[in-house]
Amino acid sequence: MSIQLNLSPLSSYIPHQHPLIISGPCSVETEAQVHAAAAGLAALGKASVLRGGIWKPRTRPNAFEGIGNVGLKWLVDAAKQHNFLSATEVANAAHVEAALKAGVDILWIGARTTVNPFSVQEIADAVKGQDVPVWVKNPLNPDLQLWIGALERIAQAGITKIAAIHRGFAPNGPSQYRNPPKWDLAIELKRQIPNLEMICDPSHISGNRELLLPVAQKALDLEMSGLMLETHCTPDEAWSDAKQQITPEKFGELLDKLVIRKVEVDAKSLSELEEIRKQIDLVDEDIIEKIASRMKLVEQIAEYKAQHNITILQMDRWKHVIDRWNAEGARFGLAEDFISNVLQAVHKESIRKQTGRMNKREE
Ligand code: PEP
Ligand code: MN
Repeated sequence: MSIQLNLSPLSSYIPHQHPLIISGPCSVETEAQVHAAAAGLAALGKASVLRGGIWKPRTRPNAFEGIGNVGLKWLVDAAKQHNFLSATEVANAAHVEAALKAGVDILWIGARTTVNPFSVQEIADAVKGQDVPVWVKNPLNPDLQLWIGALERIAQAGITKIAAIHRGFAPNGPSQYRNPPKWDLAIELKRQIPNLEMICDPSHISGNRELLLPVAQKALDLEMSGLMLETHCTPDEAWSDAKQQITPEKFGELLDKLVIRKVEVDAKSLSELEEIRKQIDLVDEDIIEKIASRMKLVEQIAEYKAQHNITILQMDRWKHVIDRWNAEGARFGLAEDFISNVLQAVHKESIRKQTGRMNKREE
C-alpha cells in the first residue's frame, strides 16, 4: 500500500539538469565567506541551489551555534547575485518567519528536528498558506515512520513542494561513515511514497572527504533526484563540519567523476521482485560493513593481547559471546543452528587474525 501525498516535482520549481545540485557551506560564517563559496560554485555552472546553515543544532553548548538572523541576508544576496535559489535549515516557527521574511527560497528540516513531532508540527503550522518548498531530512534514528510522519505533517499544511533528504543515521557501533546510510530505508521510503523525490546528502553520511564520491555515486545509482554537498573555500578553517567540506573546485572534480545515468521516468518499471532484490543487496552491504567493523575491533584486541602477553582464547569470554548471539538470534526468531554456524565462521576468522598477530610478535 503506497501513501498518497500531493507533491510537486523538483523540476517544477527549480529548473535544472539531472541531478539537481545543492551546495554551499555547512554554516554561514561571514558575508565574504558565503559570497566566495557562491562565486566558486557559480564558476562550475552545475549547482542550482546555494545552501547555508544559519542556526546550527549542536550537541554541546558553547560550540558555534550559527551566525543567526544577520546571516540570512548574506545567504539570500549571495544566491541572487549568482542566480541560485537559497536554502537553509529551520528548527522552529521563529526560524521559518525570519527565513521567509529575508527571502530564503527553500527551507529544510534537519535530522535533529525531524525526530520531534512537536517541532515538525510547529514548522508545519508556520509554513501553512505559504508557497515555500520544505525538504525533510531523515531523523537521526533509523525510524522510517518518523520520517514519513514529518513529511505528512508538512503535506497536511498544504505544502506540495516537498522532497526528502537522505543524510544517513546515527551509528550504533563503529562505522566508516559518520552516519551510516542504511540505503534500504531510503529505498523503502521511495517504495511507500513513489512520487516523493529524494536528495542525498553525502557530506553528513560520510563525515570525511574520501567517502563523498562513492556515496554520491551510489545515490545516483539508486535513482535519487539530487545531491546536497557542503563546500567551503577554506574547508579546514570551517567553523563547523570542517572534515567533510571540500572546495568548490574539488566539488567540480567530484561531479566530473560521477557516472550519471538517465533516470527511468516510469519508476514502476521495476518489478516487485527486483525491488526486493535491490533491498537485499543493500542489506548485504550493511552486513559486510558490520563484519569489517568487527574485524577492526578484533585487530585492536589482538594488538592489546600481544602487548600484554594474554592468551588468544579465553573460555569465559567465548561463552559470553555465544550466549549473547543465541539470545539476540532468538529475539529475532533466527534458528539456533544457523546463528551458531555464522558465529563459528566469524570466530574462526577472528582467531586467525589474532594468531597472525601473535606469530608476528614471535618472528
Ligand atoms: C546540515 O545540513 O548542516 C546539518 C546540520 O545537517 P543534519 O540535520 O543532516 O545533521
Ligand atoms: Mn553540516
